Amino acid sequence: MTAPAYRRILLKLSGEALMGDDAFGINRDVVSRIVQEVAEVVSLGVEVGVVIGGGNIFRGMAGAASGMDRATADYMGMLATVMNAMALADAMKHVGVVARVQSALNMEAVVEPYIRGKAIRYLEDGKVVIFAAGTGNPFFTTDTAAALRGAEIGAEIVLKATKVDGIYTADPKKDPSATRYGKISFDEAIARNLQVLDATAFALCRDQKLPIKVFSIFATGALKRVVMGEDEGTLVHI
Ligand code: UDP
Repeated sequence: MTAPAYRRILLKLSGEALMGDDAFGINRDVVSRIVQEVAEVVSLGVEVGVVIGGGNIFRGMAGAASGMDRATADYMGMLATVMNAMALADAMKHVGVVARVQSALNMEAVVEPYIRGKAIRYLEDGKVVIFAAGTGNPFFTTDTAAALRGAEIGAEIVLKATKVDGIYTADPKKDPSATRYGKISFDEAIARNLQVLDATAFALCRDQKLPIKVFSIFATGALKRVVMGEDEGTLVHI
């Protein structure tokens, strides 16, 4: 059997990924499907860090748009990611994956605080580490947290799980002739104004020479194919 292409990965799951087709919140069936995909790559011996979003529950921008103080709304968004992280860790337990949640905001009665060395030790032990509360700072996103934690834990790649199976030359819903890039460089992605991650996250990955792969979490087996280095999704490389 061929070996996985990566030893350690950082998987970014948006809050919306947990929502499935629901309008809000956490869909248990969708979550259990996602954790099965994660369990498969863990069983290959790949070390998995996860950064989870919160957009299925609350987004700071939406709060600010309705008149809230932006920083307050962002803290609420970060709290939403903690709920998602707890749901994900719980679902992982059901499929036999040992997961630890570490939060960038301290709430020790509920989850562990983020401690880099401890997170790395967990990964080395084969546990999945779910990084909650983003970067711990308002005005950032969980994409930036993914780039940051990915760089901190020495992940070889950031895997951005989306609803679409990669980056396209145009919006495939509007333009049927749009094609998926198999790979694209950071410079070309900038030149073509492709929105891969938000600008801060993208810059951090580029500076740290941390490649990004965009793929669909809803395509069965896609995470495993990505980890095996197969032609799945779009690779953004240096
Ligand atoms: N957030 C933040 N700082 C961070 C990460 C997240 O303030 O470092 C807040 C922000 O309000 C954001 C919300 O948490 O809207 C949920 O995160 P995000 O929108 O990135 O989630 P996703 O789109 O991935 O579901």
